[in-house]
Amino acid sequence: MDYEIVIGMEIHVEMATKTKLFCNCTTEFGGNENTHACPICLAMPGTLPVLNEKVLDFAIKAGLALNCEIQHYSKFDRKNYFYPDLPKAYQTSQFYYPICKDGYVEIEAGGKKKKIGITRIHIEEDAGKLLHESVDGTLLDANRCGVPLVEIVSEPDIRSAEEAQVFAEKVRNILEYTGVSDCKMEEGSLRFDVNLSIREKGAEAFGTRTEMKNLNSFRALGRAVQYESKRQVIDIKKGREIIQETRKWDDVKGVSSAMRSKEEAHDYRYFPEPDLVPIILSEERIEEARRTLPELPEAKQARYVRDYGLPQYDAEVLTASKATSQFFEKTVALYDEPKQISNWIMVEIPPFLKEKEISIEEIPFQPEDLVELLTLIQKGKISGKIGKKVLSLMFEESAGSPSQIVEENQWAQMSDAGELSDIIAKIIDENQKSLDDIAKGNKKAYGYLTGQVMKATKGQANPQLANQLIREMVEKKLNSRD
Ligand code: ADP
Ligand code: MG
Ligand code: ZN
Repeated sequence: MDYEIVIGMEIHVEMATKTKLFCNCTTEFGGNENTHACPICLAMPGTLPVLNEKVLDFAIKAGLALNCEIQHYSKFDRKNYFYPDLPKAYQTSQFYYPICKDGYVEIEAGGKKKKIGITRIHIEEDAGKLLHESVDGTLLDANRCGVPLVEIVSEPDIRSAEEAQVFAEKVRNILEYTGVSDCKMEEGSLRFDVNLSIREKGAEAFGTRTEMKNLNSFRALGRAVQYESKRQVIDIKKGREIIQETRKWDDVKGVSSAMRSKEEAHDYRYFPEPDLVPIILSEERIEEARRTLPELPEAKQARYVRDYGLPQYDAEVLTASKATSQFFEKTVALYDEPKQISNWIMVEIPPFLKEKEISIEEIPFQPEDLVELLTLIQKGKISGKIGKKVLSLMFEESAGSPSQIVEENQWAQMSDAGELSDIIAKIIDENQKSLDDIAKGNKKAYGYLTGQVMKATKGQANPQLANQLIREMVEKKLNSRD
C-alpha cells in the first residue's frame, strides 16, 4: 500500500508595529520580565482595548502579498481558554469574520510548480511566555502578551517535507519584503505549526491529523514532518488508531511526543468581542495598501532577469533576503556590471559572512567599497586573485578602503613594462631549457615562464602584460640564435 502525506500549516507572524495590539506598551523584544506590560494587556478589570490602526495596514498588506481577498467587514471574537500564559483567560482573535480569505502561494518543489491555498489570515494577540527553567515552578513574563499577530492558515495542500519547507520559506520571504514583520525566527517573530495526516494514495478522505506547534527553524520543520509522517504510517500499518492531538517536537532528540489532546473549536466557546467595534475597510484603503506594497520577490526576480540579463538562478539567490537584494541594487546602480556583481555577492562574499557569523545587513563595508574594489580589478590595478585578498581584509574592523588596503600591502600590480622587462629578461636567461623547448615547438614552456615571473613578483605582475613581454622577448632571443 502506498501512503500520502497531507499537511496544512498555521503560521504566526508578529507584526512590526512599535506598540501592542490594544495598548501603548512597546513590542520590543527582550527587556526585563513584565516591564512591557500594563493594565490593558494584563486585562485588569475596568480596562478597555483600543485597536492599533497600523495593524490593519499590515494585515491588509500580508493578505495582498499572499493573493487573498481582503474583507470589507471583519471583527474580533474571544477565544476562551485558561492557560497561565494568558492572564485575560481569553485571546482576542478573529474567528467568524477574518480580515483576509482565499489566497494562495505558488511554490516550486521537486521540479514542479504548484499552488498552496491560503484559507484565511486573521489578526490576534500573542500570549505571554512561561519561564520553566528558573527557580522553583514556573514564572510568567507578560512582555509578549498583546503583541499583534497575523495568523496565516493554509489549506491542507502540502504533500511532503520539501513542499512544507519551500512553502514556509516562501511565505517568510514574501512577508519580509512587505515589511509586515521582521521575520526573525530566532526571536519568535515567525512560528510554524504543522497539521499532518496520512491517507492511502488515491483516497479522497483525509486521515486524522496531529498538530506540531512552534517549529522555529526550517530544518526543524523538515525533520519534524519526516519523523511524524513515518510514525503515523507505522501506526496505520499496524492497525493502530491515530489520535487527534497536539504533539511536541523535540529537535535535539529528533522525536515528537504527545502533549495534549486537540481541543475542538466549540471547546473555546468563541463569542463576539463586545469591547471592540467591527472593522470596516473602504475600497480606497485597500487600494492604498496595494499601491504602497513594495516590489515582491517574484517581481524582483523577473526584473533582474529582464533588465540585468541575469540567470534566473542568480535572481533567486539575490532576492532570497531583502538585505541581499538591497545590497545588490545599490551596487549595480553605481557600477553597471550586474553579472560580475552577482558573482561577488553570491560566491565571494558568503564564505566571509559565514566565518564572521554575520548577515549581509551587518557587512562592515558599503556597496561603494565593493564598487571601488571591482574598479581596481577592472582597471588592472590588481588581479582578481589579489581582489579576493582585499575583500577578506575589508571584513576586518579597522580596514580602510580597498585602495588603501592595496597601498598598505603593496599589492598593486606591476604594470610598468620597464620594470617587468628587467625581471623577465633575467628569468629567460636563467631558463635556457624553456627556450629550447619553445624552439622545438613546445608551447607549454610559455606557461612555465609566466609562472616563474609571477613567482618572482609575488603574484603582482599584470598577467596580460607579462605574457605579452615574455612572448616578445622569447621571439627576439630565438631570432638572434639563428
Ligand atoms: P483548528 O482550528 O482546529 O486548528 P482548522 O480546521 O482550522 O483547525 O485547520 C487547521 C489547519 O489544519 C489548517 O492548516 C488545515 O489545512 C489543516 N488540516 C485540517 N485537516 C487536516 C488533515 N486531515 N490533515 C492535515 N492537515 C489538516
Ligand atoms: Mg489552529
Ligand atoms: Zn499594555
